[in-house]
Amino acid sequence: MKTQNLFKHYPKGELHVHLNGLVSTDIVRKLLHQEYTSIPPGFDLNQDLVILTPARNLETYLKPWEVLRLIPKSRANLAMIVDNAFSNLKEQNIQFVELRSSVLYLSKLNNVDVETALSWLIDEIKNASSKYKIKAGLILTVSRGNFACTHLSALLEAFKNLDRPDFVVGIDLAGYEDTTSPLELGYLFEKAKNDFGLNITIHAGETGNAGNILDAIVRFKADRIGHGTAAYKSAAVMELLQKNDICVEVCPISNRRTGAIEENEKHPVVEFIKLGVPFVICSDNPSIHASGLSDDYLCFYNETENLEHLQNMFEKQKKYSFIKGLT
Ligand SMILES: [Zn+2]
Repeated sequence: MKTQNLFKHYPKGELHVHLNGLVSTDIVRKLLHQEYTSIPPGFDLNQDLVILTPARNLETYLKPWEVLRLIPKSRANLAMIVDNAFSNLKEQNIQFVELRSSVLYLSKLNNVDVETALSWLIDEIKNASSKYKIKAGLILTVSRGNFACTHLSALLEAFKNLDRPDFVVGIDLAGYEDTTSPLELGYLFEKAKNDFGLNITIHAGETGNAGNILDAIVRFKADRIGHGTAAYKSAAVMELLQKNDICVEVCPISNRRTGAIEENEKHPVVEFIKLGVPFVICSDNPSIHASGLSDDYLCFYNETENLEHLQNMFEKQKKYSFIKGLT
């Protein structure tokens, strides 16, 4: 599904995209080769970097990250990744982007402290942002699990040491939703919001549990929800999203490829439209899907036959963006 559709020319904002899911697979292969990276046994570089059909589960969908987390091993190669990511955004007529990265893997791979890795990433995104004339902000992603608090604290410490750059617009929680994280993680997210003015988005309700969305709103003080596909299962959650104007980042292609929505099921965005739950269309990991944000627009259109929402999408993306001063 390459991007020749009528939505390609619509001006767009991207509110949910992971940096390493945006870099083209040819660049990934090139860097793996150039950096002499040993490929995990059983990983086929010709097939396993993309997910083109619905995966059995989220774990299968995450296969490409077995190698994506092994690059880049130099600042120059990070620059190449970021430049390629912006070139892909430009091709989709994206005017502003909130890029997500967990940063910590960059620090480990390159043997530098978290502060240095964060400053590299910010500088490279700023360079590409001005080269491609795409406004940008960075969202720091933390994965669920035992080390979530330690990782978030390390990221926030680096953020503080760099004098709290405005360029970092939010924090995000991702990873397997059934994994337990330390109880104080919600408190840490809330504290980051209160102390540093960071916005919060949480991957929640992607694996079928509406309770995780409730948790994201109540405990983590989420401003937006990533995916939120299980929201429709709870009237209380739908009401909470609608009344508090909490925007759901709907990723139509991703939701089908991860298996978040069964093939014979309707996409729950239909219910969001019916009940006035705010949402924006996003691409999540377009290069893994061999697609672009325009394809997500097309997928949404095929699911809903609703053109009006797509015509107003850019205004909504601006409204719910964490980047200030978008016009
Ligand atoms: Zn995501």
